[in-house]
Amino acid sequence: MNTKVIRISQDSTKLTREEEAGLRQAAGILKRGGLVAFPTETVYGLGGDALNPESARKIYAAKGRPSDNPLIIHISRFEDIRNIVKTLPETAVKAAEAFWPGPLTMILDKSAIVPPETTGGLDTVAVRFPSHPVARQLIAYSGGYIAAPSANLSGKPSPTSARYVQEDMAGRIEMIVDGGDVGIGLESTILDLTEEAPRILRPGYITREMLENVLGEVTVDAATIEPDNGQTPKAPGMKYRHYAPAGRLVIVEGQPARVVPYINACAAADRKSGEKTGVIGTAEVLEQYRADVVKCIGSRKDEEEIARNLFSILREFDDEKVTSIYSESFPAQGLGQAIMNRLLKAAGHRVVRLQE
Ligand code: AMP
Ligand code: MG
Repeated sequence: MNTKVIRISQDSTKLTREEEAGLRQAAGILKRGGLVAFPTETVYGLGGDALNPESARKIYAAKGRPSDNPLIIHISRFEDIRNIVKTLPETAVKAAEAFWPGPLTMILDKSAIVPPETTGGLDTVAVRFPSHPVARQLIAYSGGYIAAPSANLSGKPSPTSARYVQEDMAGRIEMIVDGGDVGIGLESTILDLTEEAPRILRPGYITREMLENVLGEVTVDAATIEPDNGQTPKAPGMKYRHYAPAGRLVIVEGQPARVVPYINACAAADRKSGEKTGVIGTAEVLEQYRADVVKCIGSRKDEEEIARNLFSILREFDDEKVTSIYSESFPAQGLGQAIMNRLLKAAGHRVVRLQE
């Protein structure tokens, strides 16, 4: 399959005639059951018609994703949610008022028109109303319901630019809509509203604190941070290996004054045994690292920058064939909860904790 790439300028609120025609073509592909990757404010999505079981099958095949791992349905108008859920609880309306359009996915009981293929056989459905103008336009043109997981091969870091979508999906899907780099860089917060109390199944840009301000108490699924705690995570996707770079990643936790020399010593030893070494460091101490490839994930003063850079840095280590990577650790509060959730998964929960 030849994958066509179309570009939409950064200011996607003012589409040129050519861009408009390109998006209409993309919508046509979706309506016919084909797959199109497109930008959202979180990461690039791999879209198919959410109400067409055949499209869901194609998404699983293109990603190499297990078919029990459900897809998120993207809508472009709040009222469209009513067709795909059985009931709309007051909490969902409140959360939507506060955070939609935006990086929040809600789990609700599904209506009959949503095929089991899209929900991985579950009776619940994940719904998101993204804020990215290109995503919204494409969803509206294609009939209102796009099922879209992240547009990476299963297990790889989610793509934050069209270049990485191309790397994984060229030849597997019909079109890639290139809308430049994404703004947030981590996937949406997943909030389960099917039980008594709201529960975060996957942390994201919308933090627990932000949700609690609107909804009252919100719990966090234990599977978001802890490795095998014996419980089956409610979001099936959370149990799979994820975001992993090709190299071995280790997180080192502790005071910077101890972390830097520890990482340098490990990198030096690994290098002696023939590894190509890499470091994920923060701006404040970056110059002190000694390794083959040292990457700046951002400043400790700017968590949003760290979130935005994480996945692309993991991909860059693959591009540069780094085999042994060490990363600083981050406080797991606020946005840090999402950052550490992704970093821990990427590292397969390999963490070294240095004494104070
Ligand atoms: P991705 O789109 O690649 O970020 O993956 C979607 C995530 O949403 C996966 O972790 C899924 O397991 C989760 N998800 C989708 N639908 C549901 C659902 N009905 N219940 C729980 N988790 C869901
Ligand atoms: Mg994903």
